[in-house]
Amino acid sequence: MSDYPQLSVNQATLREQCSLAEIVPLLARHAIHGVAVWRDKLHECGVKQGAQLLRDHNMTVTGYCVGGLLSDPDPTVFEQSLEDNRRIIEEAAEINAQCVVFLAGGLVAGVKDIDAARERALEGLSLLIPEARAAGVVLGLEPLHPMVCASRSVLSTMKAANDWRDQLEAPDVVGIVVDTYNVWWDPDLSQEIARAGQAICAFHVADWLVDTSDLRLDRGMPGDGVIDIPRIRALVEDAGYGGPREVEIFSRDNWWRRDPDEVLEIIKARYRHSM
Ligand code: ZN
Repeated sequence: MSDYPQLSVNQATLREQCSLAEIVPLLARHAIHGVAVWRDKLHECGVKQGAQLLRDHNMTVTGYCVGGLLSDPDPTVFEQSLEDNRRIIEEAAEINAQCVVFLAGGLVAGVKDIDAARERALEGLSLLIPEARAAGVVLGLEPLHPMVCASRSVLSTMKAANDWRDQLEAPDVVGIVVDTYNVWWDPDLSQEIARAGQAICAFHVADWLVDTSDLRLDRGMPGDGVIDIPRIRALVEDAGYGGPREVEIFSRDNWWRRDPDEVLEIIKARYRHSM
């Protein structure tokens, strides 16, 4: 039995320190049995070898990062992205991931039609539903903070994610990922989490640092910032989510520079009271 049954660590948290072959045994040594896997790291290891490694260490794979990025208006690029997503779905099935973390994609350089970008991403998602269903893979829509709307995701709010999910009419395939760092500021958060209900397929935690130094790469450890993470956890649990809390910290100048054992010890210490 794990000492931390509801704790998962997203591989991005130790992105600079560990390969997949390194992080999996390291987490097991720390009695942590949840991990979210990044595609570049899985490919580096080899998909079959990575899947075996995860099974050997009894890991629950709480997400496969990242799918989607389908907002490009260029038909050739769009088709290539769709093909890429089909491989991502196969790989997610191979490692038994609880979802593919699905990002809409941002605005391509020179493009200003944000409504068209949103329609494109939604269209792309709809085209992947048959493959995802056949593979038994959930596509977890993750709205990102509006500050990365141009670069990463034209889907910014829980409401928009819920609206897309309703339009797609594929409740068995399309889930919702709640990431505290992305949605904590939203005045409609509690009602939209309740609306997502059992569709919530992953819960990512990181804190917002008041004097953040980077739009993406300066996330805080739970407890170090302004987000009431336990409150948001209570909201997702009240909505019906009973899965792990996945610590996902992109932190170029702080956590990525620390010793991995130290990072994991701090995560475990914060687990009970700060997330
Ligand atoms: Zn996330």
